[in-house]
Amino acid sequence: MRESWQERFADAPDVLLGARCQRTVVPVLDFAVGGDEFVTMAGPCSVESEQQLMATAHCVRSAGAHFLRGGAFKPRSSPYAFQGLGLEGLKLLAAARDETGLAIVTEVMSERDVSLVAEYADVLQIGSRSMENYSLLEAAARSGRPILLKRGMMATVGDLLSSAQVILNNGNPNVILCERGIRTFETAMRNTFDAAGIALLKQIAHLPVIADPSHAAGYRELVPKLARIGIAAGADGILVEVHPHPENAWSDGEQSLDFEGFAAMMTELEPWIALRGTGLREQKSEHQRSTGPHFAEAVA
Ligand code: PEP
Ligand code: MN
Repeated sequence: MRESWQERFADAPDVLLGARCQRTVVPVLDFAVGGDEFVTMAGPCSVESEQQLMATAHCVRSAGAHFLRGGAFKPRSSPYAFQGLGLEGLKLLAAARDETGLAIVTEVMSERDVSLVAEYADVLQIGSRSMENYSLLEAAARSGRPILLKRGMMATVGDLLSSAQVILNNGNPNVILCERGIRTFETAMRNTFDAAGIALLKQIAHLPVIADPSHAAGYRELVPKLARIGIAAGADGILVEVHPHPENAWSDGEQSLDFEGFAAMMTELEPWIALRGTGLREQKSEHQRSTGPHFAEAVA
C-alpha cells in the first residue's frame, strides 16, 4: 500500500492538513494571506533610497499590490556585492507603509537582528539561504510576527515542511510558505520553478503558499508567465520584484519588472485570478464533502 503523506512527512505533523479541516489564514494589517483574496507582494530586491522605494510603493499599490517587499539586509552570492542599507532601509520601509498602507515584508538574516527587523516589518522573510537555520527560525518565530518562509534552493518539499514545523513548534502559527525556484540540472534559467511543489503543498498542507516567479526565472520576460503558472497551481499570492529602473538596480535587476511591466502583468493576471476564485469554490465544496472522519484519508 502507498505510504500516506502523513507517513512520508512525519517530521511535520502539524503542517499537514490531516484531520484538521481549517486552512491557516494569516492576518497582516487589514489583509489576509491564504483567504479568498489573492495577495500580491511587490517591490525592489533591495531598498536603495527613499526615492526608489517611495516611487515603487506608489506604483505597486496603484497596480493592486497589498504588500511592499524590499530587502534591508541582503544575502548575496558574492561577499563583495551590496549587503543592504540595514536600519536605514527598515526606516524607509516603515515610512512607505505609513504613506501607502501597504504591509511590509522584509528579510531577517541573523538571530541578532530579529527584534530590530520585527520592530519595523509586518512579516519577517526567511530567505532561501536561511531556510534550515533553525536557531534563526526559532528566534523569528518567537518575535510573534508572521513568517514568510522561502524554500531553500536545494531543499525538498519535505525540508520546507520541517522548517515550517520548527516555527509552529515555537508558538507561531502564522507561517506563509514560498516557492522561489530550486537548483536542478537545468541552467537556462536562474532556478527551476517547482509548480508541482506548489500544487502539492496546497494539497497536503494547511499553510498559505506564495509563488515567487522573479527568483525562479531570473529573467523579467518570464515573470508574468511563471506568475500565471503559480496561480494555476493554486498559490495564494505572488511575490514579485519591481524597480523604477531595473537596469540600474543594485541587485536582481535582470529579473525585476519596471513600473509599466508590473502594471501590465497585474492586468494580464486578472482573468487568471478570477478563475482561481472558481477553483476555490470547487475546492471548498469538495472539502465540505470530505470533512469529518474520512477527511484524513481523502488527503492521504
Ligand atoms: C529576495 O527575496 O530578494 C531573496 C534574496 O530571495 P531568496 O532568499 O529566495 O534568494
Ligand atoms: Mn532578490
